[in-house]
Amino acid sequence: MGNNEQIVNTKEPYTYEHLQEDLKKLKDKYSFLQIETIGESVQKRAIQSVRIGTGQNEVMYSASIHANEYITTNVLMKFIEDFCDAYIRDDDIFEHSAKMIFNTSSIYIVPLLNPDGVELVTKNIKEGSQDYMHYKQIAEQFPNISFPDGWKANFNGVDLNLQFPANWNEAREIKFAQGFNKPAPRDFVGFGPLTEPEALAIYNFTLKHNFRLILAYHTQGEVIFWKYANYLPKESEEIGKTFSKVSGYDLSATPPESANAGLKDWFIQQYNKPGYTIEAGLGTNPLSMAQFNKIYSDNIGILVLGSII
Ligand SMILES: [Zn+2]
Repeated sequence: MGNNEQIVNTKEPYTYEHLQEDLKKLKDKYSFLQIETIGESVQKRAIQSVRIGTGQNEVMYSASIHANEYITTNVLMKFIEDFCDAYIRDDDIFEHSAKMIFNTSSIYIVPLLNPDGVELVTKNIKEGSQDYMHYKQIAEQFPNISFPDGWKANFNGVDLNLQFPANWNEAREIKFAQGFNKPAPRDFVGFGPLTEPEALAIYNFTLKHNFRLILAYHTQGEVIFWKYANYLPKESEEIGKTFSKVSGYDLSATPPESANAGLKDWFIQQYNKPGYTIEAGLGTNPLSMAQFNKIYSDNIGILVLGSII
C-alpha cells in the first residue's frame, strides 16, 4: 500500500501499551481520526473508540471482548490504517471510494474491549505477580480450562459477552447449570447485567449513538451469527447473506447455549437493527497470528460493506 511505512502490527498480538502507541501514531498521521475514551477496565486501562468519517450513517465495530480472541484487535487496527491510507490517496477500498464512505458514514471502531484480559493471555502480566496470582486462583477452580490460553473473561472473572440485558437471567441459568456459577476464565455471567465497567462502557456508548448496524468480532469458526430470539430486524438476513458471500463464512443462527446476554443480542433487542457476531478464523483460541492475513482478507469486505450497506 503505497511507499508509506505501515504502523499497525499484523505479526504480533497487541499489548495495551503497544495499542496506545499505535493509536497515537495513527492520529499523528491521520489527524481526521477522532479518538475518544469511552470507559475504563477494572484495572483502569482505557477503552477507546476510533471514529472514521463524518457522515450520518453510524456503525460500530468492536473486538477483543473475549481475551483469548485478541487477533481481532489487529484486524480492526489494520482496517483503520488501510481505510485512512485509501482515503488520503482518494482511492478505493474493497471497490468502494473511501472518500464516499467517509462522507456518508461514521465508522466507530472499538479495537480492544477487554484490555485487562488480553494482557493476561498475551503474557504481559508477570508470572507470580499479584495480578497473575489473582487470575490463577480463579482459573484453579476450573482445571479443565487451560491457563492462561483459555481465559476469555475480564479481571473479575466475568465473561463480558454475557453481561448484557437480553435474557440475562436465562443465560445465568444455562451457565450456572454448566458449572459456571462463580468467577471463571469464561462463561460466568457475573452477579447481574452490566456489573462490569467494560460491558457498561460499550453499552453506554451504544446508547449515545444511533448505530444502524454493529459488528462484534470474535474468534473462531468462520461463521456469522445474525439472530437474536425472535427478532427479525429489517434486512438483517439479507445483509448477513452478503457478508457470508464476501467472506466465505457461514451464516448461522446462534447455538441456543450462547444465544443470550451478548452484545449483539442486546443491540438487536434494543433497536431491532442488524447486529452480527463474526467468528473469524479457524482453530483453537488464541489463534496463531499466522492466520492474520487470511482472516483480514476474508473480512475486509464485511468491514467495508458494513458501513454502507
Ligand atoms: Zn468470543
